[in-house]
Amino acid sequence: MTAETENITRIKVIPEKQGAFEYIKISCPMPYGLYGEIRTPGYIFGFNRNGEIKTIQGRSGEWLTCAEWLKRTAGNDWQYFSAGGYTGAYNYTGEYYIPCLPYQTNAIFGENVFERHEVKEAFKQWHHLRGEIERLDFTRFSAAEESFLRQVLEMAPEKLRQRGELLHKIIGGMVTVLPPDTRHVEYDVIPVVVADGCLYNCGFCRVKSGRGFSVRSRQAVVEQIEALKHFYSRDIINYNSVFLGQHDALYAGRDMLCFAAQKAWEIFELEKSVMKGPRLFLFGSADSMLTAEENLFETLNRLPFSTFINVGLESADPHTLSVLQKPLNREKVVKAFDRMTGINRKYQNLEITANFVIGARLPDTHLPSILELTRNRLAHFYPKGAAYLSPLEEIGDKNRLLTKFNEFKTLCRLPAYIYLIQRL
Ligand code: SF4
Repeated sequence: MTAETENITRIKVIPEKQGAFEYIKISCPMPYGLYGEIRTPGYIFGFNRNGEIKTIQGRSGEWLTCAEWLKRTAGNDWQYFSAGGYTGAYNYTGEYYIPCLPYQTNAIFGENVFERHEVKEAFKQWHHLRGEIERLDFTRFSAAEESFLRQVLEMAPEKLRQRGELLHKIIGGMVTVLPPDTRHVEYDVIPVVVADGCLYNCGFCRVKSGRGFSVRSRQAVVEQIEALKHFYSRDIINYNSVFLGQHDALYAGRDMLCFAAQKAWEIFELEKSVMKGPRLFLFGSADSMLTAEENLFETLNRLPFSTFINVGLESADPHTLSVLQKPLNREKVVKAFDRMTGINRKYQNLEITANFVIGARLPDTHLPSILELTRNRLAHFYPKGAAYLSPLEEIGDKNRLLTKFNEFKTLCRLPAYIYLIQRL
């Protein structure tokens, strides 16, 4: 057997496969939408419809478990989805996996998986696979297989890096944090930035831009959406969700939000997406919640998306707000929380979630202040409108923090999860 015949029998090429068309909560790798696949005896490599590598999963004894997989984002970050090694993942994240990230974040779970032998080996095998494909005689493959393999070759690591940079250039910078609610679509969102900066520039925050709040022009938003359509190209059919960035898009107001959401719907042709259940995600703040007119929520509720707004409240304790250097008072936080719960009950297609902090060195009055909102102000458990707890830099003893979280979760009358900062 020649080296090439051996390669052909070793490598199984499937240019187009069909995954699930609806996001589901499951504890094993689930391919979504339309994608291509190359299988070797040791690995399954998944590719999007532009030939960019998207997932790697081990198949042999070397790989820890079939419930772990690597996934690449459009911003060219690799994430490791760990479902096998953690008990209670769902309790902490609302998903059956823990996303492990290769960059500095507020993660409180596990070690750096990217240092593990089998993860390093998986990346090595991807590079090895590219070398094998280069040596293949393409005349032995069907036209569809050949075209797919050529696309895969074209999307070399350097090109993928450049494409990640191009995405950030189109939207005007990296998305430093995605709303926690984007977990519902496994973080597969198209980012469209409608406003920059935020209202508070809080002292504790590690994702802030440091800029004052400003809304982009309609023309800039349309140009951005058109450039994004070109960027996502053939793979756009696999997206049905949009993140309107960045840190307080809600403050951009009704006209801009509805304009951007509708333009994204039309230009991305989201009604043609193979994925069901389109969703819109954005961040809000206490002030944007309180100043928003009711017709903003009425209009969002009528859009062809289910809309999720994550509001950063952080604490209802004046001492903690002062420690965090967040220029908010308790009264505003309580009012914003009450409006959030009111909207969640009134509008079927809207879900407002709240973000609070958790950390080792916060005043003892902090967690009781959140329970005052999420327990005492609610008559019973409400399944809509999660409370996310975002670990601060100084988390201290991880187990102690998770115990605190579990105690909070038991008493909280909203679904409660840990919030991991993920970028795009
Ligand atoms: S917590 Fe929110 S409002 Fe405060 S600085 Fe960070 S992004 Fe801005």
